[in-house]
Amino acid sequence: MLEIKGLKVDLEDEDKTILKGVDLTVEAGKVHAIMGPNGSGKSTLSYVLSGRDGYEVTGGSATLEGEDILDMEPEERAAAGLFLAFQYPVEIPGVGNMTFMRTALNAQRKARGQDEISAADFLKLVREKAATLEIDNDMLKRPVNVGFSGGEKKRNEILQMAILEPKMCILDETDSGLDVDAMKLVSKGVNALREEGRGFLVITHYQRLLDHIKPDVVHIMSDGRIVKTGGPELALEVEKNGYADIKAEVA
Ligand code: ADP
Ligand code: MG
Ligand code: MG
Repeated sequence: MLEIKGLKVDLEDEDKTILKGVDLTVEAGKVHAIMGPNGSGKSTLSYVLSGRDGYEVTGGSATLEGEDILDMEPEERAAAGLFLAFQYPVEIPGVGNMTFMRTALNAQRKARGQDEISAADFLKLVREKAATLEIDNDMLKRPVNVGFSGGEKKRNEILQMAILEPKMCILDETDSGLDVDAMKLVSKGVNALREEGRGFLVITHYQRLLDHIKPDVVHIMSDGRIVKTGGPELALEVEKNGYADIKAEVA
């Protein structure tokens, strides 16, 4: 589904290399987790995959179902089926949450040669998905993320994801700042989307999210590279011993 090979990325403004050759393949139907110390480049990887400005790819490749995504505009990446939930979801004053999601969905459908969804069908779809995430009507009507709590923003991101039904979902520290109940809701929303044809990359600082979203594969990123890959037990090892052992092993 997602194949990253030797990806090297510099900051555009500074002479600084952040990603030093990332290799990572996420198969359809699998959940891969990336853990790693602060500053290892996890968010940079998600930003670069989403097409955010400010980064320069100096080597390697990233493909979604065999298509080069690094050459695409951010909206083309979304239409191709890539979705990113960020650590800090943006607020969009003046744009209603429902309107935003319907516009995004219709843009995606158009790019895929499908008709627009009718207002009635869309309402039904949103209500159904929102219920799972315990998102009420009021939150659906308010401007996107404006005045939402941290937990509400994250739940809203998962709602957007559920509506868009992407092929590849990347979640960057979706658990940060969430209380246990909000984390369970977010996890439930993510787990409801797990299926054969869909891949997930879950970036998290703490193991606890992975108790709820059980990964198939766990990667450790350190200093701009994936330095270790294993099963769910790797996350437990990190929780117990920190990253010191892995850093020493790599050194
Ligand atoms: P992580 O998500 O693993 O904590 P990041 O990708 O946020 O790591 O950051 C990796 C490194 O790149 C850090 O040293 C960070 O300070 C640096 N970095 C990332 N973006 C910028 C930026 N726009 N300006 C300066 N430094 C940056
Ligand atoms: Mg960070
Ligand atoms: Mg980060």
